[in-house]
Amino acid sequence: MPGLLEKENLPNLEFFFFNTGYFQTRKFNITWSSSFKKIRLNNIGVLVFHPIKGLLVIDPGLGINFDKRRKKNKTLNFITNLSGLSVKNKQSLLEILKNNDIKANKIENILITHTHYDHFDAIIDFPGSTLWLNNKQEGFIEKEKKIHLPDVLTSLKLSKQKDKLKIFKFTKKTFGPFKKSFDFFGDQTVMLVPLSGHSPGQMGVIISSKNNKTIFLVGDTVWSQESIKKNLSKGMFTQLIADYNMKVARKKVHLLHLIYKKWKKKILMIAAHEPELKNLNEVKLWR
Ligand SMILES: [Zn+2]
Repeated sequence: MPGLLEKENLPNLEFFFFNTGYFQTRKFNITWSSSFKKIRLNNIGVLVFHPIKGLLVIDPGLGINFDKRRKKNKTLNFITNLSGLSVKNKQSLLEILKNNDIKANKIENILITHTHYDHFDAIIDFPGSTLWLNNKQEGFIEKEKKIHLPDVLTSLKLSKQKDKLKIFKFTKKTFGPFKKSFDFFGDQTVMLVPLSGHSPGQMGVIISSKNNKTIFLVGDTVWSQESIKKNLSKGMFTQLIADYNMKVARKKVHLLHLIYKKWKKKILMIAAHEPELKNLNEVKLWR
């Protein structure tokens, strides 16, 4: 089996980035800095076309009518208002697929980097897809039940009843600098690696394909590539309210920084809320 960056025997995958909303904030919240500059964070997910295994979505993002639906949960509504979340002028994945003549039932599998609402709310729009969670992610949803929308929890329950919810554990197979991993398709094109800290069970997703640059989705470990390059955590206030375990989260930022230093020409690392989309022109992007 090939290791990290060995691509000769891999199939060719296509992937598209999409954006389902944005957050308004200041630079000092995103990365350790004293800048008050206004920044718009995106809410990015990825659609992966595997030539044999079909369509996979990583982080489906905010689902259809999120602005209306969020009002059903006071706590979540408060959090979204506080973070300046807006989905105005943005489309849910379901709408994006419709505009591109792709039927929702073609999405066979869904993965989420971590179980925060902004990353997996849209599972309600894909009841026929199989949702994959690692065992720690599943436990964390249960723990934070109160801040999920009722229709998302119902959707999870239904998936479980229909055997469309698969819970997996990382195996002890090393992949690059990671001691554990999970080979999603069994051909090392989509490798899941543990990246907890921001939330329990958060995963990084490394997508390798014959003809494309390797993509490393780092979830919310950081909120911009700049933080990886400079080895900077989020702002202190953000760490306090957004990171589940600040100490572990900081270690993971350092690990990403080391990966960047070693393989920056070969691996494109992307944060789930990456603000600088203009720097992502090496990958195809749907907006
Ligand atoms: Zn997030």
